[in-house]
Amino acid sequence: MQPKANIVHLPVYQPGKPVEDVKRELGLSEVIKMASNENPYGFSESAKSAIIEELSNTHIYPDGASVQLTAKLADKLGVATNAIIFGSGSSDIILMAARAFLAPGDETIMADETFSQYKHNAEIENARIIEVPLKQGKHDLPAMLAKVTSATKIVWICNPNNPTGTIVSNEELLAFMDAVPDHVLVILDEAYGEYVKDPAYSDGVRLLGSYRNLLVLRTFSKIYGLASFRIGYGVGHPDVVRFINQVREPFNTTRAAQAAARASLSDDAFVASCSQANYEGIQYLTAQFQRLGLAYFESHGNFVMVDVRRPSGEVFTGLLRRGVIIRANWTHYPTYIRVSVGTPEQNEAFVAALEQVLQEVTV
Ligand SMILES: *Cc1c(COP(=O)(O)O)cnc(C)c1O
Repeated sequence: MQPKANIVHLPVYQPGKPVEDVKRELGLSEVIKMASNENPYGFSESAKSAIIEELSNTHIYPDGASVQLTAKLADKLGVATNAIIFGSGSSDIILMAARAFLAPGDETIMADETFSQYKHNAEIENARIIEVPLKQGKHDLPAMLAKVTSATKIVWICNPNNPTGTIVSNEELLAFMDAVPDHVLVILDEAYGEYVKDPAYSDGVRLLGSYRNLLVLRTFSKIYGLASFRIGYGVGHPDVVRFINQVREPFNTTRAAQAAARASLSDDAFVASCSQANYEGIQYLTAQFQRLGLAYFESHGNFVMVDVRRPSGEVFTGLLRRGVIIRANWTHYPTYIRVSVGTPEQNEAFVAALEQVLQEVTV
């Protein structure tokens, strides 16, 4: 047996280490996970009630088209219902968009250090991947534009960018959208959009009226705290959404996830309080990095990428031994780690552990 030649070399996705594994492997009783940009404050209480109520319908297939949830979201975003598609996390929308738009040999453009799933799914479709270096941790939109050819099908922009946390401004994005040819689908991933406070940030959904070739991705996994339920969405021109719907699995989201997402959309207070707590966490962490003389990228998400000036794998191991899980080993940033913002107590525990590790691992 041989699979498709282009998938033979693909790695299996390595998620942030689960807390239970680390406890068992290292014999630790207290372990904190600051590795996967999850919400340290959990999720909305009203989502919890909705989930419990929906459990009694577990034997009934979900509504594949998520009709009620779509109606609620369309109303909230001020878009038509046929401009929205739901997925099993926004990762599912990434997969479906690649499946619908990329044929072998098609070109697709992305940053060289960004969310791994763009490249992963493009490789599965055997597309030609063009990676454009970040510039000081930021998407270099003019350089990405310069790589567009008649063979380009998708350009991926992660805003804020995972793992660096940087944003491109509304102005930069508009200049890019105005210049990019119509045959190119621009996928704007706003997984962390709800955290951004900078007024220069663009709300991708507001741009949809002006550009038919834009697809905005969002998720309930991050600020809404529903990571394990696997629900996210794409918003774009109805033609784009229809193509993606054509490759969608019939039942790609669950009843409980739809119910949880519906309830979450009504709890703006939860989102606002998490966003504020996260902002304070970013302020705290970056002040500590300054005190320790460590450079970092200005982050607009719920994580910070900081230069520990040592091989990041060694810092990862040192932190793990002290019960703190973070992400390391970035291809283009070998001395950087990415830490998710935790609760104030978790942030303090991380900083204390980091100080010890920095003394232990010499430069
Ligand atoms: C976490 C994340 C997603 C999607 O996560 P799902 O859980 O699949 O919704 C998408 N894009 C980026 C940049 C992310 O960090």
